[in-house]
Amino acid sequence: MTAQLIDGKRVSQEHLEQLATQVQERLAQNLRRPCLAVVLVGDDPASAVYVRNKKRACEKVGFESRAYELPATTSETELLSLIDDMNADRDVDGILVQLPLPAHIDSQKVLERILPHKDVDGFHPYNVGRLAVKMPLMRPCTPKGVMTLLAAYGIDPKGKKAVVVGASNIVGRPQALELLLARATVTICHSATQNLAAEVAAADIVVVGVGQPNFVKGSWIKPGAVVIDVGINRLDNGKLCGDVEFDEAAERAGMITPVPGGVGPMTIATLMENTLKAAQIHDSEV
Ligand code: NDP
Repeated sequence: MTAQLIDGKRVSQEHLEQLATQVQERLAQNLRRPCLAVVLVGDDPASAVYVRNKKRACEKVGFESRAYELPATTSETELLSLIDDMNADRDVDGILVQLPLPAHIDSQKVLERILPHKDVDGFHPYNVGRLAVKMPLMRPCTPKGVMTLLAAYGIDPKGKKAVVVGASNIVGRPQALELLLARATVTICHSATQNLAAEVAAADIVVVGVGQPNFVKGSWIKPGAVVIDVGINRLDNGKLCGDVEFDEAAERAGMITPVPGGVGPMTIATLMENTLKAAQIHDSEV
């Protein structure tokens, strides 16, 4: 392996420690402990793990966390009514509804019900729109986490050619907006993109979020490029892997993220950052 490893675990720990210090400073000023409310509907095991990790991160930084674990039979009306209550609750700073929701619930309707300044996932169209018009407020966690990681390793996207593979609402699209905000020249690839290999081969920075193991081949990577692998896939042997052929890509890239231990921890660190920001907005309104 010739590429430098980008250690998201280390950067996220440092980030969480800084946030913990900021929480202590708030408490010393008699400001409230930030509070994150997490809603889980149903019993999807992967979602339960994500929710548990978010709760642990809250404990680490000194936030209060509230968990609402609702049965899979919860109706859309019941969920919307819980969100209304949390929107009105002055003690709740951030609201996160764990996706995916059961099929009978309209996820978009639920996400749009959350007050934008409590939308710590950054999925509300208002927050995505704010990012699009260069006035970010709550920034989608995974793409913002990637930007924090790039900054931690001294990588400035300005003037670089960035290629984002995947165009979902939670990863690819907001990632492209983040890179554009940072003044990169951005290409977004998706399932209708032709000659993906050539697009990736032109990239100084490539961010991949597709959801297929070893999807991006190592031989496509431009020598010296920065490779950020957002993908998290569980293989039959139980191991996690990303969307990029890691060993082959690491022979060509200048820097590369591992899976696990790359982007994943940064997503949670950014969620904590957004919750603190939500509390600060909340303070200014009280
Ligand atoms: P989605 O399934 O919502 O989106 C996948 C994207 O990949 C789509 O835009 C799709 O294109 C694109 N795609 C599919 N096939 C191809 C192809 N042949 N060529 C180019 N693009 C293609 O997935 P998510 O965005 O939710 O997640 C992507 C990955 O990131 C998953 O592994 C997920 O687990 C991981 N993830 C990791 C997070 C983290 O914290 N590290 C957080 C969130 C997700 P089209 O738009 O045309 O359908």
